[in-house]
Amino acid sequence: MKLIVIPGDGIGPETMQVAVDVLHAVNQKFDLGLIMEHEIAGHDSLQQRGATVTPELLAKVRAADGLLLGPMATYDFKDEAKGEINPSKFFRKSLDLFANIRPARTYPGVETLTGPFDLVVVRENTEGFYADRNVESGNSEILVTPDVAISLRRITRHCCERIARSAFELAAIRRQHVTLVHKANVLRVTDGIFLDECHKVAKEFPQVTVDDFIVDAMMAHVVRDPARFDVIVSTNMFGDILSDLTAELSGSLGLGGSLNAGAEHAMGQAAHGSAPDIAGQNKANPFSQVISAAMLLTWHGQRRALPAYLAAAKAIEQAMEATIAAGECTRDVGGSLGTRETGVALLKRL
Ligand code: ATP
Repeated sequence: MKLIVIPGDGIGPETMQVAVDVLHAVNQKFDLGLIMEHEIAGHDSLQQRGATVTPELLAKVRAADGLLLGPMATYDFKDEAKGEINPSKFFRKSLDLFANIRPARTYPGVETLTGPFDLVVVRENTEGFYADRNVESGNSEILVTPDVAISLRRITRHCCERIARSAFELAAIRRQHVTLVHKANVLRVTDGIFLDECHKVAKEFPQVTVDDFIVDAMMAHVVRDPARFDVIVSTNMFGDILSDLTAELSGSLGLGGSLNAGAEHAMGQAAHGSAPDIAGQNKANPFSQVISAAMLLTWHGQRRALPAYLAAAKAIEQAMEATIAAGECTRDVGGSLGTRETGVALLKRL
């Protein structure tokens, strides 16, 4: 597998170093034949190349088997004409990475507000309320007058159908349950299409049970009893918000790994942002990046029928469980170690 690795902004270089060390370790242990090529995007690229991402970088990523992307300082990138392109959007849109898979599970040893749970949020990634990706060119947020603004939400049957399929396929190899999250009581037409497509796909998976919740009520249900959920599927923005909540409920946003997957390409990326408040302080939890790397290995292993990749991902998960259970982790999950020291503790168990 050839992986392009981009450390990203803020805490990215610190957390990515741990993920890269972990990948080197499993590469040796499981003889994966993994090749990692290091690249830049975000602020580094803006300084050195005049744009946060470039067409040359995209070509490299297209030719590789996967991309491990660090967090990006999205909020800093406002003007595309000045090369300030949102790299996450750029890769998601250019590579049609329509499914954002965001697992959230509790770990023995981490105190949480709830009991144990293990769920996955499957979030649509290419349309919805995201002004920078739901139109072919331009932006779907319009300033009509200095005091009036309009934001458009695009929902298509095609995108709803394929995200629903991702969710049901995942549920079929998990606990056979899918929850649809929507606001069809208000957004009758758009979320009507979303629900309609989900129910059509559900017919192909008779073994999978289905329920649905209005997004606001869902917040209460997921806080009260997250264990009742298996796979949760939603449109882009609802899924984005919900998955930060589920990551935090699992102990910390620093445990929120994610995979952005399309038919041909995949990108592992922590669910959180660049966390400038703790950048450069050896405080960030590296597990979100490590989980994202392991998800890339699983994706490649399933696609190419390579059991060694699946075993490597499993070994990473088990090593993480043991490291957390021993309390050898960062402060956000109850430990007292720094990012680097957490990485050392994890490597010891691999
Ligand atoms: P951005 O503008 O890049 O989205 P942000 O700070 O607004 O950055 P996040 O990066 O998602 O948003 O951070 C939200 C909060 O979660 C911050 O207080 C941050 O310190 C914390 N946080 C995020 N990631 C981690 C991590 N890996 N380990 C520990 N804390 C984290």
